[in-house]
Amino acid sequence: MTINNGRVIAFPGAEAQPFGLTIVVPAYNEAEALPHTHQKLLAFARSLKEKRGLAVEILYVDDGSRDGTLAVANALAADGADVQVLSFSRNFGKEAALLAGLDNARYGAVIFMDADGQHPTSIAETLVSRWLDDGYDVAFTYKAHRRDEPKLRTLFVNAFYGLVNSGVRHKIPADAGDFRLLSPRAAAALRQLPERGRFFKGLSSWVGFRQIGVPYEPDPRLQGEAKWSFLGLLAFSIEGLTSFSIVPLRMASLFGAVLATFAFLYGLVIVIETLVFGHNVPGYPSLFVGMMFIGGVQLLMIGVLGEYIGKILSEMKGRPVYLVGEQSLKRASEQPASE
Ligand code: UDP
Ligand code: MG
Repeated sequence: MTINNGRVIAFPGAEAQPFGLTIVVPAYNEAEALPHTHQKLLAFARSLKEKRGLAVEILYVDDGSRDGTLAVANALAADGADVQVLSFSRNFGKEAALLAGLDNARYGAVIFMDADGQHPTSIAETLVSRWLDDGYDVAFTYKAHRRDEPKLRTLFVNAFYGLVNSGVRHKIPADAGDFRLLSPRAAAALRQLPERGRFFKGLSSWVGFRQIGVPYEPDPRLQGEAKWSFLGLLAFSIEGLTSFSIVPLRMASLFGAVLATFAFLYGLVIVIETLVFGHNVPGYPSLFVGMMFIGGVQLLMIGVLGEYIGKILSEMKGRPVYLVGEQSLKRASEQPASE
């Protein structure tokens, strides 16, 4: 099968799925927003079908919601696009929901979009055009600005990307979101990665191919509140950091080396002072401060080590990333206008 402007897809596994697009929508307690989002997605799907002859499937992944999201999703009409609904046995998190979407997509290309209506379909259309017209494999979006977000959060985000990207070859674009399109071969490549700790922004940058960023302004949330807490974001950042970078470990070694050198030089000074000048070296307070400092740094670095060991443990256990409770598929109702 040839796609992408006639370029033949060479990546193994990419041809397993028919030509088309699956829109993956993770949903956690989005019962109220879902019908509205669905209408927008259906209109988008129909226009893709009309303009480009692209078959579209909308895949909702109910991430263990407790507000009837599943019932609402099951009742959505397949008006011009296939609608697939997957539900998890409990809340596994957005990354797990995205992976489930990727695994269960029935078409080659995949777009990730939020259920809360914050991702405009006009931008999704640009993503499709980057793929079909310009031949890109990963078209990701990034926030045009962070004016409306708390300063502290922006600071935190910048620090995070600075750390993750320091000294690595595959830089993760700062400010990139999960809202992105993967071409069939990029999606196939991502599917084949074995790790359980998933950090999609990082992984989809890591797979390479041709990548492009598209700036966008997120629409306001339709209802409810964003589900991230500060602690949640912190955990997510540590997850991302430890899956993509060993810089924290290097920093520990470097810091240790600097401290040891300093201690050695200072030791020399003390020896010389005592032997040559006969000074009795005073200094319980400085000794105490020094001990506290070293103790603190050691504990911190053991914590850093622990993060990586914990990561190895959870990869070793080999548990699935998610458990599916229910899965259903509604085929697009045939429209007289479209074939
Ligand atoms: N989400 C999910 N599982 C979770 C938390 C969130 O599937 O545990 C979904 C949520 O329903 C939404 C998307 O992930 O579709 C983004 O969540 P949210 O709007 O809370 O975050 P933000 O827009 O701030 O990134
Ligand atoms: Mg949102």
